Amino acid sequence: MCLQAGIRFQRSSPISSQPNESLMEGSWLCPTELDRMRVVDANARVRTIRHVGAASIGIALLAAGPWVGWWTLLPFGLAAFNLWHIDRRIARSPRPERVSALGILVTLTMLAVGVTISGGSSSPALPWMVLPAAMVAARFRPQVVIVCLAITVMLIIGATFGATPAQAVHHPVPVLATLALLVSLVSIVWALQAAELHHRDEAILDPLTGLLNRHALAPRFNELSQQARLTGQPICLLLCDVDGFKAINDEFGHDRGDAVLRDVAYELRKRLRSFELVYRLGGEEFLIVLPGIDLAGGRQLGERLRLAIAEAKPTGILTTISLGVSAASGEQASYEELFKAADQALYVAKRSGRNRVSLAATPVQRPDMRELLGEQPLQPELV
Ligand code: GH3
Ligand code: MG
Ligand code: MG
Repeated sequence: MCLQAGIRFQRSSPISSQPNESLMEGSWLCPTELDRMRVVDANARVRTIRHVGAASIGIALLAAGPWVGWWTLLPFGLAAFNLWHIDRRIARSPRPERVSALGILVTLTMLAVGVTISGGSSSPALPWMVLPAAMVAARFRPQVVIVCLAITVMLIIGATFGATPAQAVHHPVPVLATLALLVSLVSIVWALQAAELHHRDEAILDPLTGLLNRHALAPRFNELSQQARLTGQPICLLLCDVDGFKAINDEFGHDRGDAVLRDVAYELRKRLRSFELVYRLGGEEFLIVLPGIDLAGGRQLGERLRLAIAEAKPTGILTTISLGVSAASGEQASYEELFKAADQALYVAKRSGRNRVSLAATPVQRPDMRELLGEQPLQPELV
């Protein structure tokens, strides 16, 4: 079971520092953060292939120009340029899945216009109309692929039977062949993508809890800190550690300890929104990454999680967690610094008696945070 992929959860009451909802919430294209990560990841992996595809379409257009007429090639040129340019727009956007889907839709529409004005069902570019659907199959979930297939079929029929009805009816073979090519290409890409996703999920998901593991952390944090630099939004880390877990193992056995970890993971996950990810770093240590949340918001959420775990009594055992919280915004959002600060704050929480939340001190803390909290932050103590 994949907790990260499966749960879309709204917090029951709002916390003071809300992130920008419009930037962060799941959408029909990507309901969960894991779906969105896959889109971004697939986009990066097929970049070279996409550029080769766009370049070969460009060369084919130049070669075909004298026969089909230069002006009819304009929509194909725009489609190729759109494909070429999509990376830059994705890198700048907090909703890369929308940029990707819109870019593919624009490419498909341009191709349909190009086919319509370059001969309809006899257009040499008709088979190119299957490419956008293959691109969607390599990135998005099945529902999105099915909708894209339906749109592609309609546009193929519109660009052929709609544009040159008599010709398409008398010689339907190119249209039928293109439709067959569409279905078979999308099926192949879909099957390959499913196998790839299965292997990748195995590599980045913790088998015990279904949470993401530390391998998934670095790429996600890089992406978030890039966005933080562009938007000035903060990023907050909550480092959580189960208190006295060794004693639970010793008293109740390792299997029961495993069940406690699963329950703790579930309780943490279900109190977070889809874009707030929990990673199991190993053992009984979890890391929560909160984009758009500052130190005050992180502390409030940490307190809620701490109380929730204590109330949940995983497998009937009274279990508590300690948390270290750090936050930074814009240029300061470096993973190493943030993690170190959260780790030191966790150490303080443990030293101060466990079952508590401690905040990191400067430099990752914002200057006005002490006034905001109405108290002095705990200073991490070093051994
Ligand atoms: P503290 O309050 O200081 O965090 O004490 P603790 O006992 O929780 O921490 P400690 O690091 O001493 O012990 C952690 C234990 O977690 C030791 C290790 O055997 C156990 N552990 C690590 N991974 C797993 C796991 O996957 N399943 C189970 N059941 N136990 C694990
Ligand atoms: Mg512990
Ligand atoms: Mg530990």
